[in-house]
Amino acid sequence: METLTLVREREGRTEVWEITWAGLAVEIASGTVGRPLSTKVKNFGSPREVEAWLRSELDRQLKAGFKIADKPIAPAAGEDDEDDDDDDAPAPARGKAAVSAGPAVAKRKATPRPAAAAMSSSDGPLRVLVASPGKPSALGSRVGGMPLAPSSMDWPDCACCDKPMRFVGQLRLREVGADRDGLLTLWHCTSTGDKACPSGDPTSGAARAIVLDEEDLVPMLAPPSSAEITLLRTQTITAEALAGRISDPARAYADTLEARREVVGLVGAQLWVGAATTATCKPCKAPMKPLLQLEAHAGGGLGLGGGGRGYAQLCSACGAAAWFVQRVK
Ligand SMILES: [Zn+2]
Ligand SMILES: [Zn+2]
Repeated sequence: METLTLVREREGRTEVWEITWAGLAVEIASGTVGRPLSTKVKNFGSPREVEAWLRSELDRQLKAGFKIADKPIAPAAGEDDEDDDDDDAPAPARGKAAVSAGPAVAKRKATPRPAAAAMSSSDGPLRVLVASPGKPSALGSRVGGMPLAPSSMDWPDCACCDKPMRFVGQLRLREVGADRDGLLTLWHCTSTGDKACPSGDPTSGAARAIVLDEEDLVPMLAPPSSAEITLLRTQTITAEALAGRISDPARAYADTLEARREVVGLVGAQLWVGAATTATCKPCKAPMKPLLQLEAHAGGGLGLGGGGRGYAQLCSACGAAAWFVQRVK
């Protein structure tokens, strides 16, 4: 069960619009804080219908001046009263089939066999990134949810089409093999078709990594529209050792991806269909090092449609980072 709460200040009162969904049922509660909220329940035929409805309703409310609240207001049926304080230390969901109900995972496509692909490695150990259900405003490493940023930061726009970029996720650098502090936030343009922006080119500005200090971060609660965030699932991300034949890490990773649905990425190496791409740090005029890759089946958070991967690279001299994607047909 997940809850999304929107609020709007009107004439000294706080108006609430809150949706809680579980499976194919959505409960909508609306009204004014301090008074009983009116509720109704809608049932849908498929997860796709749920997501389409949630997105169109969220867009309607954002246009009407609502913003996302970081805490639910109306208690929902069967409420589990979780506290945000423990977000800091997500418990690893080892061995648990944590990624289950969502539509994006249900229609997961076969992962292209990376065994034949090029591989570029960093110096660190190989680890896989494992997803488990998380909270949209959690401080820790996650895919999806609301971006955290300093209050002065604007939602990043694509340098090619000027449209707002998709927030993909955030990863604590130390948790993904970097020897420095910081929160790596990942963004890219999801335009498609003939005029799609070149989000696979690290110099294009159609995909970006922004490294933030972990001090004084607040959720950016007013995304330009529902297209820039992942609605249906937020996944906590933890890294664990890659098991299997380390003599053939590409194969070991491919096997792990097939065997474990909750594995969504790789730390310490990057696999490529075709030639590897290496980003260059502009200020340092030096090549960046591979940090991690995320698979598009990671709950749909990458917004790459049918499939693909995203790559994060880091400048070991200054700590600047790059993010770019490779779509797979
Ligand atoms: Zn663009
Ligand atoms: Zn640099």
